[in-house]
Amino acid sequence: MRAPTELKPTLPARRSRSVPELIFGDLWDYDPSPETADPKLKSQYDLFIDGEFVPARSGITFETINPGNERKLADVALAGAEDVDRAFQAARRAYDTVWSKLPAKERGKYLYRLARLLQDRAREFAVAESLNGGKPIKESRDFDVPMAAAHFFYNAGWADKLAYAFPGVRTSPHGVVGQVIPWNFPLLMLAWKIAPALAAGNCVVLKPAETTPITALKFAEILQEAGLPPGVVNIVTGAGETGAAVVAHPLAAKVAFTGSTEVGKLIQRQLAGSGKKLTLELGGKAANVVFDDAPLDQAVEGIINGIFFNQGHVCCAGSRLLVQENIAEVVGTKLRNRLRSLRVGDPLDKNTDVGAINSRAQLDKINELVESGLKEGAELYQSPCRLPSKGFYFRPTLFTRVTQSHRIAREEIFGPVLSVLTFRTVEEAVEKANNTAYGLSAGVWTDKGSRILKLSTELKAGVIWANTFNKFDPSSPFGGYKESGFGREGGRQGLAEYLKIDGPIVAQP
Ligand code: NAP
Ligand code: MG
Repeated sequence: MRAPTELKPTLPARRSRSVPELIFGDLWDYDPSPETADPKLKSQYDLFIDGEFVPARSGITFETINPGNERKLADVALAGAEDVDRAFQAARRAYDTVWSKLPAKERGKYLYRLARLLQDRAREFAVAESLNGGKPIKESRDFDVPMAAAHFFYNAGWADKLAYAFPGVRTSPHGVVGQVIPWNFPLLMLAWKIAPALAAGNCVVLKPAETTPITALKFAEILQEAGLPPGVVNIVTGAGETGAAVVAHPLAAKVAFTGSTEVGKLIQRQLAGSGKKLTLELGGKAANVVFDDAPLDQAVEGIINGIFFNQGHVCCAGSRLLVQENIAEVVGTKLRNRLRSLRVGDPLDKNTDVGAINSRAQLDKINELVESGLKEGAELYQSPCRLPSKGFYFRPTLFTRVTQSHRIAREEIFGPVLSVLTFRTVEEAVEKANNTAYGLSAGVWTDKGSRILKLSTELKAGVIWANTFNKFDPSSPFGGYKESGFGREGGRQGLAEYLKIDGPIVAQP
């Protein structure tokens, strides 16, 4: 790292304490620090069905790219309805002949093995995830991959202890489950779905998102390495139509979907009356509520993490900041300073804080919503950082003077854009926080324990963080209220979604 060329005092002149703050941003000319591990990519990926990689029956493939530089990474097989059917037939066969007959302890062993193999290849997976999805390597390395392994470890432990997880009742697996996941946490969402499904004794057909199929296909290599019986997990790549075929397949006894509220509603309508069990994890527009007694510097870090983690491609992102009016100005100044210090650029650089937007389509969507914010009268602040000339990037963005009717306060932007609103009283904070169609997560920042407890019951959100944000653990359930969906993932509750309750255990006389 070279010395800064210039140090600017950055606090506004009218503030009485004129202590200069050290601002990094573009003042520091960082030398590149690229992650060099080999992601071991193939130029061509087939579907993973019945324990083997097989081409799509139609022979059709699609390109998957690196959103950081728009270069092609690989050709991927596009699964049609016929391929999806093959995958379900294989899963059903595996369930009937092998998986349902295996002692629970043996299922657990496979899950432990998958967790350890993922740890063994952690760096390789982290690079692949950042290359294909655009997220900074420090996040895929320190969050996505270790957390994915943690979900396999956690569920491995439950596999032979279901009677203790659900005492007094007899449970059984659904059989074959269909799972459809999005592009924002490709490997982690796979782990959230596959690990509990297998622990509970189900077989799986999973479809990754069109833009991020690579780590799922690399995970299929791990399934082979672990010697998992063929057909227990099948991975079918493709676009929305492939997802629709997974959801609609008659052998899918349960469907688990994570993605947009729009597609979630469509699936709910489709499955109505089918008898299939359904869980939906959809969008969010979380309120991050900051009171005037909060530790402000800590809160600012939480706000920044809440909205800029993974470029804001996070369903539980703290995308609406509700700040108490009397501290709005000082929080605004601190936020703008912090925004300028975020390093935006090459996802594979270890210095990068904000990587690439996942796709051109998502970048267009973010641009469109930011335009609407300007048109509707909100005040824009963007980091002046330099953006790479190739690839999909968006400046960390802050909107003030946002009102509740603005689209940027109501719609999920799914990008690095924070909307700031203010409030005066606790009641007003709760009312504004709950004034949304969503209810996935929320954050509360205050020194008062009693206020945290009050808000944790009054905020209508599945997860509420206090004096922190975006903290996850495999033992902690996650899921939404209202249009954020239903069902839980993670914890004992997440495991329960993959089991049927067959009745009480009746003591024998
Ligand atoms: P999406 O269309 O809902 O995609 C989620 C998954 O469903 C993908 O695998 C997708 O395939 C598949 N899919 C699409 N249409 C389907 C259908 N009719 N039946 C079954 N599966 C279908 O979401 P997106 O297009 O990736 O992103 C759109 C918006 O969704 C984002 O801007 C964001 O607001 C929200 N989102 C939320 C989450 C979350 O974690 N809650 C995650 C991602 C996105 P394709 O990849 O081919 O589309
Ligand atoms: Mg889509």
